[in-house]
Amino acid sequence: MSMDFSSSDIVSEICRLSDDMYAHGWNERNSGNISRFVSEEELRPYGSELEPKRKIELTTPFPALAGKSFLITGTLKYIRNVSRSPKTTLGLMRICEGGREADLLWGFEDGGRPTSETTMHLGAYLERSAIDSRQKYVIHCHPASVILLSEILPCDEKIISQALWKVMNECIVIFPEGVGALDWMISSSDGIGIESAPKFRDFRALIWAMHGITAVGDTADDAYGLIECIDKAADIYVRLMSVDTGYRRLLTPDELRLIVKSFGLRVREDWLE
Ligand SMILES: [Zn+2]
Repeated sequence: MSMDFSSSDIVSEICRLSDDMYAHGWNERNSGNISRFVSEEELRPYGSELEPKRKIELTTPFPALAGKSFLITGTLKYIRNVSRSPKTTLGLMRICEGGREADLLWGFEDGGRPTSETTMHLGAYLERSAIDSRQKYVIHCHPASVILLSEILPCDEKIISQALWKVMNECIVIFPEGVGALDWMISSSDGIGIESAPKFRDFRALIWAMHGITAVGDTADDAYGLIECIDKAADIYVRLMSVDTGYRRLLTPDELRLIVKSFGLRVREDWLE
């Protein structure tokens, strides 16, 4: 007898992640989306329960992902409802040969479809997994602090990364590669997904100006923890810039270099100026 996928650790982990993201205030209304790569080995215990139910058309073909399966949130679904109703808010799909469509194996029981940001999720997975074979999670959400940061700083990866590194000791340790940034574009479109994907070769987090952030990771903790850290540092930076006491202490380039040296980090040298 095969096991019930609904009560799998894979589904419960994405439910907990959704609840935590919602508790942070990162997912108003139907905003935000999550995907998780699921290997064939992980799917094996669920056997016949995961027979194809129907086809899902992909707006951008991903032939390189044929045979790969993803658990993904649905379009127009609310992150706050994922843990209450995983079978309607989530879907497990396996990309078909040619990459133009996918087989729905589980979920989307009310006739739903994957998020309108599916091209970004699959593109981010494809690019990131080329340099990190353990890549699994892609998380997108709308932390107010990150949106604010993108409204008071130019859309420049070096300027944004330095701003975050300088306000909180741990930042350069947690994201020594910095944070990627993309200026405003129409979202929920293939265009933003196609522009975003290559950024995940250099970065694990990407800010979309006036919109939000996406992070990738090997585990839910990796991707979620990275956004938590960026959210906190962005919040500190924005608040710091909104008060003027005539005194402002930030980590200096020399102090950042000291952290880099003591943790053996690899950081672009010209980003430490
Ligand atoms: Zn969004």
